[in-house]
Amino acid sequence: MARKFLCLAFLLLLVLLFTGCATIDLSTPALPEEDSLAAARTGTGTLSGTVRDAAGKRLKNATVVVEGTSLSATTSSLGKYRITKVPAGKVTVTAFLEGYTPQRKTVTVRKNTTTTVNFTLSQESPGSTSLSQPAPSPQATVPVDLLVTYGWGKNNVVRWKNGTVYVYDATGGNGTVDVASLLNSWNDVIGGVTTFRLSSNPQSPVKIYYDVQKVTAFGPGTWGVAFVWWSNYEIVKAEVAILPCGTYYGGMNLCPKIELYLHELGHVVGFGGHTNDGGVMDPVPRSTTITATVREMLSALYSLPVGYALTKAPGVPKDGMAVIPMRWEKEKE
Ligand SMILES: [Zn+2]
Repeated sequence: MARKFLCLAFLLLLVLLFTGCATIDLSTPALPEEDSLAAARTGTGTLSGTVRDAAGKRLKNATVVVEGTSLSATTSSLGKYRITKVPAGKVTVTAFLEGYTPQRKTVTVRKNTTTTVNFTLSQESPGSTSLSQPAPSPQATVPVDLLVTYGWGKNNVVRWKNGTVYVYDATGGNGTVDVASLLNSWNDVIGGVTTFRLSSNPQSPVKIYYDVQKVTAFGPGTWGVAFVWWSNYEIVKAEVAILPCGTYYGGMNLCPKIELYLHELGHVVGFGGHTNDGGVMDPVPRSTTITATVREMLSALYSLPVGYALTKAPGVPKDGMAVIPMRWEKEKE
């Protein structure tokens, strides 16, 4: 499968919204046939089903993964998915879609049988308190399009609070990557209201760690996954899971390097989307360049008051994803 990156956004009700951008930065090695042995012993079956929202509407482009394998599928316009060659036995299947809380189910797959697994995903629903803040005055110079395009879930613009945000790196930069200096690269872009610093405290709000399971759950081509939680439009926590050097996929040693760290940290600091301009926030970064698009978006983001989201929608929906009406207009030339 050619998917290199997977962006996920999940929002958690009470406390946190889980927005992950699974950054899947691999050069599509051949699919390891890791299931063939197990399959020979126990056979395989098929999983299929429909992903809907709480109102019963079919959700397209949701990702369904069989955890611990490289098997995944994306739902059709009818919300349907189908995954074949699933090893018989108990498997955990998870459905993700940006803006929804992921749902995980454990089912038993039987040989040569299609097992139906349907999902119902709830939309994120931040507390109404987030809407009670006074609106900031219009800021004509904030590039709304950029914020919308590269915000989480394409229209949620969230950022960290002002001040220092500590980052704990359990990977030690894989031995070669200078994470502190990468953080400073982002600090320069952000411009000072929020500063990210390396910390030795494992309880820091940002954590980088090795997790083969978490990463490979997103299929081949995955190098790392960034998860960002926000609450009332303020990012409160983030995690980056990456593969340790020595992880092999199709005979390739996936040793995460500087591009991966820099890219994932870009998501952590608030760049929710991907560019396609040859820079580090490309879906598959081949350079460490932080391009003008990224710079402009992040500096605009951190010039907004904490706690605001922009949306293309003209109003605030009664339920679902809380959005604040757009209050910035793009400046006319
Ligand atoms: Zn990414």
